[in-house]
Amino acid sequence: MNKVLVIGAGGVGSVVIHKMVQLSDIFADITLASRRIFKCDEIAASVKERTGVTIKTAEVDADDVEALSALIDKLGVSLVVNVALPYQDLNIMDACLKSGVNYLDTANYEPRDVAKFEYSWQWAYQQRFEEAGLMALLGSGFDPGVTNIYTAYAKKHLLDRIDTLDILDCNGGDHGQHFATNFNPEINIREVTAPVHHWEKGEWVTTPAMSNKQPFDFPAVGEKNMYQMYHEELESLVKHLPEIKRARFWMTFGDAYIKHLEVLQNVGMTRIDPVMYEGKEIIPLQFLKAVLPNPGDLGKTTKGKTCIGNIMTGEKDGKEKTVYVYNICDHEECFAEVGSQAVSYTTGVPAMIGAALMLSGQWSGKGVFNMEQLDPDPFMDMLNKHGLPWEAHELDKPLDF
Ligand code: NDP
Repeated sequence: MNKVLVIGAGGVGSVVIHKMVQLSDIFADITLASRRIFKCDEIAASVKERTGVTIKTAEVDADDVEALSALIDKLGVSLVVNVALPYQDLNIMDACLKSGVNYLDTANYEPRDVAKFEYSWQWAYQQRFEEAGLMALLGSGFDPGVTNIYTAYAKKHLLDRIDTLDILDCNGGDHGQHFATNFNPEINIREVTAPVHHWEKGEWVTTPAMSNKQPFDFPAVGEKNMYQMYHEELESLVKHLPEIKRARFWMTFGDAYIKHLEVLQNVGMTRIDPVMYEGKEIIPLQFLKAVLPNPGDLGKTTKGKTCIGNIMTGEKDGKEKTVYVYNICDHEECFAEVGSQAVSYTTGVPAMIGAALMLSGQWSGKGVFNMEQLDPDPFMDMLNKHGLPWEAHELDKPLDF
């Protein structure tokens, strides 16, 4: 019987659990653990009410490797699904190695004191996982995650060679708040305010945050302004598909979001270095998180759709070809199904699918893997069956910006 431990009772963790219980033949025994057990119990109660299924809950500080390893051993699980925060990644990987179990996450490790997005720290675990005969799957969310799989799928079925890759992340939803982030505000704002890197002709090109804006007409959403950003999957994709000459990432933001963010940055509220306040050190961005709406509560009021996908230009049978592979997800439908908005949903479903493929043995290996290193077909198939159907269309021409 497969036993799995999910760590992190936030917006994404809630979706992972609600989706896992729908596949009881694969996820026979589920435990949800987090920093505060009452959050796990709330999710467990929602699952019980919606499906009648009982899951176990536990309290653990995932930064405490000994305590986490003891919990893994006590539960006897074979896989840990990490949907806590990126700060915990290395400690959870250490606990998995100590207990001899497989690992999955949805975001690359970040040190707390510097907003640095790179896989180097986690790739450094390759040898240890390989020697232990264990598998660590990195970035099984939507972006990273599904966007890596779309790229691998295009390479396998749609294009002989990929020359350019543009990942377009559009949230056309409206939550009715003046300013709120769709997932953990601290993680989201660190990412959005970081310098932009993109891959061009064999090297990283750096430009200032939010300095490249383009309008784009998204399927099912309409025209939105998107901004070029750095996103971690660019690093693994250009490593594993070195033929890619240019790789960029774009995300939509409304004018109100940009206006608030500019003011917050200008007054120092997005700083991640400690400042003294009334004799105590505080991190301004962590204080800001405490006063912003909780992303987990936005589901009730969010309306509209997300559209996330890849536009890839390359060659097929000797001719230039451009393909657009994307998913459209409706916030209200997600809320009706699992009680969460689409941003948590689009992350939680792929985490569940990655876990299902590992537990069923369809995806296996020894070492540390990014998603594009595995066969995209069973993952693409499960996306269609479990709430994130995709479409692939040929475009008349490549992007002209
Ligand atoms: P939340 O902040 O809503 O949830 C994080 C949860 O982790 C909280 O319940 C928190 O506990 C718990 N936690 C934090 N620290 C610890 C710790 N030391 N030990 C145990 N539990 C801890 O975040 P989200 O659900 O929005 O995001 C979860 C993850 O998903 C993040 O890593 C995020 O970067 C990633 N993500 C990935 C995406 C993708 O497409 N790949 C998209 C969106 C998110 P508490 O409630 O007590 O604070």
